[in-house]
Amino acid sequence: MPRIDFICTTCGQSFAEFVRFEERDSVKCPSCESSHVKQDFLGRWNGGGSGSSGKTANAVGGRPRFT
Ligand SMILES: [Zn+2]
Repeated sequence: MPRIDFICTTCGQSFAEFVRFEERDSVKCPSCESSHVKQDFLGRWNGGGSGSSGKTANAVGGRPRFT
């Protein structure tokens, strides 16, 4: 059973639950019991990166610079 990170869109609580993939829509926030939670996979990706994705964004957003 995978551990999935969620974030509550009602109160902002982030938490992790061991849930089956097909049950992830029935997860409730442990703080306010709201069912308005979403998977927090984007936050993990941003937090785990160490600048390599930023480099790519620069190359796409601006002109390549040859100095
Ligand atoms: Zn909540």
